[in-house]
Amino acid sequence: MLAMNYRGPYRVRAAQKAEPDIEHPNDAIVRVTRTCICGSDLHLYHGLVPDTRVGSTFGHEFTGVVEEVGSSVQNLKKGDHVLVPFNIFCGTCFFCRKELYSNCHNTNPGSTTVGGVYGYSHTAGGYDGGQAEYVRVPLADVGPTVLPQDLDLDDAVLLTDVVPTGYQAAEMGDIDEGDTVVVFGAGPIGLMAARCAWLFGAGRVIVVDHVEYRLAFARDFAHCETVDFKDVRDMAMHLKKMTGDLGPDVAIDAVGAEAAGNAMQRLSGVSLKLQGGSATALHWAVNSVRKGGTVSIVGVYGPTFNAVPIGNALNKGLTMRMNQASVKRHLPRLIEHIQAGHIRPSEIITHRLPLEDVADAYHLFSSKLDNCIKTVLIPPS
Ligand code: NAD
Ligand code: ZN
Ligand code: ZN
Repeated sequence: MLAMNYRGPYRVRAAQKAEPDIEHPNDAIVRVTRTCICGSDLHLYHGLVPDTRVGSTFGHEFTGVVEEVGSSVQNLKKGDHVLVPFNIFCGTCFFCRKELYSNCHNTNPGSTTVGGVYGYSHTAGGYDGGQAEYVRVPLADVGPTVLPQDLDLDDAVLLTDVVPTGYQAAEMGDIDEGDTVVVFGAGPIGLMAARCAWLFGAGRVIVVDHVEYRLAFARDFAHCETVDFKDVRDMAMHLKKMTGDLGPDVAIDAVGAEAAGNAMQRLSGVSLKLQGGSATALHWAVNSVRKGGTVSIVGVYGPTFNAVPIGNALNKGLTMRMNQASVKRHLPRLIEHIQAGHIRPSEIITHRLPLEDVADAYHLFSSKLDNCIKTVLIPPS
């Protein structure tokens, strides 16, 4: 079959590899119909995630059709159209019982932090990803959701990560009615977080980035105000001025390692060829949110990043919440929001490319060319 194949930092290609087999009675094999490239994949592509092995296939956002099920699978059958959350989780461990599916105890046994994730290096379990014609789905009775008939496939594929992550970013912000929310990052996750902030009662939403077409898109899609950080010398002062001298009530970091990578690049002198800001979004979030406010972090940092401005956070009495999204927990509510027309996630899809063009697709998204926001890859049918 055709699959994305990682060759090293900034080098990926489409290549032939063996089709996956059922390895456990609770596996399913899914024929992929849509798969996206995520900002999280860019951390792998940029070489920022330890133990990303050459030859591996990325891809944790995909929909598909069930091709085959293992002997113990009861909730799925051949021919079902499914969306598959990016978390691989057991559904029964201590953490899954608390709906912390991203922290599942059993799907990434080598880790005390994150559970299994499709196509996300051996730090997340070493599972093959869905940027391929077929993918093995472990614990198939637990993760996949059969698609409601009226759900558009492009909306469905964004329910595997982007929409629940943006929603959880807003949820972790503990937004009170009328609050001002600042979102760092106008990529797919920041856009969705900004959009979802309104669902939680925000009175004002401000999005910060430095890519003009993304800021313009944010104004349209998320009905927010924007700040281009190229124009700002002191982010905390600027946001204080915009908010009656207090600072925003809630700050969301939807950037992660991209900005940290640039801070690391300045310190180390090593060129990471990244395009992020000169300070981490996390520092801006902590320093600009008002005293007693909440910082919600969904931007992904590599396991080694430890530059949290804890002194300021303590002195300001902040609440800081963070996690990988627990996708399945949010799906019933989000499907309802889509069916009611409150959000149309697929509006953020700017590019659709065949899987064989995966190298171009990564380059386009990483370099922010051709006004790229979200790319869907379509495997050969
Ligand atoms: P993206 O790369 O498309 O977007 C990141 C945006 O941040 C870019 O537009 C970039 O210009 C901007 N940026 C860079 N430095 C900045 C700074 N200092 N301040 C403000 N903006 C800055 O990525 P995405 O797909 O939107 O993902 C965003 C982050 O969310 C990534 O770190 C990704 O790994 C993470 N993520 C987390 C989860 C989760 O479950 N927690 C799920 C998916 C993605
Ligand atoms: Zn993702
Ligand atoms: Zn579990």
